Amino acid sequence: MKKLLITLLAFLQLALFGANDPLYEIRGKSPLLDANLTQFLDQWRNETTSPIAEGNYTNIYLHGESTKAKNIALTFDDSPDENNTDKVLDLLKHYGVKASFFMIAEAMEENNITVTKRAFDEGHLVLNHSFTHPHFTALTSEQIIQELNTTSERIHKITGSYPLLFRPPYGAINQEVVDTINAQGYTTVLWSLDSLDWGMQDKEAIITNIMTYVSPGDIILMHSGRANHVTVEALGEIIERLREQGYVFQRLDEMLSIKAYK
Ligand SMILES: [Zn+2]
Repeated sequence: MKKLLITLLAFLQLALFGANDPLYEIRGKSPLLDANLTQFLDQWRNETTSPIAEGNYTNIYLHGESTKAKNIALTFDDSPDENNTDKVLDLLKHYGVKASFFMIAEAMEENNITVTKRAFDEGHLVLNHSFTHPHFTALTSEQIIQELNTTSERIHKITGSYPLLFRPPYGAINQEVVDTINAQGYTTVLWSLDSLDWGMQDKEAIITNIMTYVSPGDIILMHSGRANHVTVEALGEIIERLREQGYVFQRLDEMLSIKAYK
């Protein structure tokens, strides 16, 4: 009887706060992804969003606080690189948009130090996307702590600010990973709308995906690393079309009302 009650309560909670609540879902689709990848993605989304909706993962964001205000956050992963990051920064400057960059610390060498500093100086957030871009679910707690802290230390050395917002590579988390991140004082930021620019090299498909699934409060996942020239091609039109629909671009600290740096 008790077991039945617990199951019933879990079901009720999921029905109330689960997949249909835009605060706890990850959207974005593409006809260009093959069936296996789509299935993998659906499973990952379900396994990731359910514990957040159920309150098992804490201090973690998928979405802005409001589903009403037409605010939106563009986030770019996997920079810095010697080419695309600068082009993304040029476009953001042209359109007067502030964004959030989750950067990989081991890429911050030579010229890439300059582009890291440039992103910060131009008013974007420079945030933690780990040192070597591993799956955190395959690491020990000690390795996780090492990845987190060496990255924020390097960013601090370059920009003067120590990031407290972290995005796990591949979105790979579990209870132990989340607990370790939290114990180190970091906040995890995932995304609610996946541009899928990592999975398809097709400008029109990326734009169509975003414009079909966008909604107020979205944190949009994009990439600005070495492999992401199609994102650069699509970005201007994405910004223009979102603006036409009345969306206002915010940095994550603004949209979530949280501190980005120590
Ligand atoms: Zn990444």
